[in-house]
Amino acid sequence: MRIEKIICQILRVRSVEKKTASSQDVVLVRVVCDNGLEGIGEADASPEVVKAIVDAPFSHNIACGLREILIGENPLETERLWLKMYRRTQYFGRSSVTIAAMGAVDMALWDLKGKHFGEPIHRLLGGKHHDRILAYASILFGRDGRETEEIGRRWTGAGYKAVKFGWEPMGQSEKLDLELVRGARAGVGEECALLIDAGCVWDARTALQRAHAFSAFRIGWLEEPLRPGDIDGYAWLRDRSPVPIAAGEAECGRESFRPFIDRHALDVYQVDISRNGFTDSGYVRSRVEEIGARLCNHCYTSSVTVAASLHWLATCRDAFLFEDCVDDSPMRHQLTHEKFQAEDGWITVPDRPGLGATLNEEFVSQYLISESGR
Ligand SMILES: [Mg+2]
Repeated sequence: MRIEKIICQILRVRSVEKKTASSQDVVLVRVVCDNGLEGIGEADASPEVVKAIVDAPFSHNIACGLREILIGENPLETERLWLKMYRRTQYFGRSSVTIAAMGAVDMALWDLKGKHFGEPIHRLLGGKHHDRILAYASILFGRDGRETEEIGRRWTGAGYKAVKFGWEPMGQSEKLDLELVRGARAGVGEECALLIDAGCVWDARTALQRAHAFSAFRIGWLEEPLRPGDIDGYAWLRDRSPVPIAAGEAECGRESFRPFIDRHALDVYQVDISRNGFTDSGYVRSRVEEIGARLCNHCYTSSVTVAASLHWLATCRDAFLFEDCVDDSPMRHQLTHEKFQAEDGWITVPDRPGLGATLNEEFVSQYLISESGR
């Protein structure tokens, strides 16, 4: 079995809103083999940039697009191909969106591997510890405390036993920050787990003050209070915070996660499979389990990544929560025939071969804006 084609497709909703949500567009990487078998993957980054990294022609032995690197290769050799992509993209890669694009390819290769062996990815990764995981509804804050309260009520009403609110308008003033969290707790009630995602808005000292103030509302974690690269700040904050500190969604690949893990800088490491692939997510899982911290998925895009996240998180020994994006976007809810959404607060791990996700081709052609590699 050899890789014959790598098709890259960008889908986008008609009218894009200016909000912090990556569910308004999708970049799909579809790896097709000479025997007709196809694997699908997705990267959560700027779709056009990802596509350029896949499409770029040979320029130099260590500056080469991913398609050129992979055509003719055996798709089952995922670890070797990961390292080959890493080495041959050195002049524009090693971090950020190039690793995310490699992550989409890697996701597709594991989907292919699963289909080839007739096994779900979680089994090929070593076996799942969980058949279902408690899901948290992941959604943005309202404009103020009152709107946030209404949103909270909506999602506990839908059966969720955990809800996370994130990003704007958090970080504008102490008064509004507290009003948002008070509204969130009032909306979800006393029994529900409440998680707060600040959206990278403070320095470490302000974040510590907020962590103390928010602890009165019994939050389960405070997520991304600091800018993503502030490893010293996270290590300082985590040592002092009365509530667990979560971060990691911005990190692409093992080199990016390594200093956080080496410094024990976080309580909860949030891994996005659409930025790390299964290969580097496996590295992060092993290292985080070794230091006794906790793991969660990050996922705010389509059901392809939701499926991938379920396969990966099910193999994490101490998985305790699954990020279930409930953003009202057709990319989240209609791209695959399978829905992968929590029922009564719990989300089920798929058991079909590969990702267990099949694209709705009618939906793909309806939202397709750009394509290469066919
Ligand atoms: Mg977040």
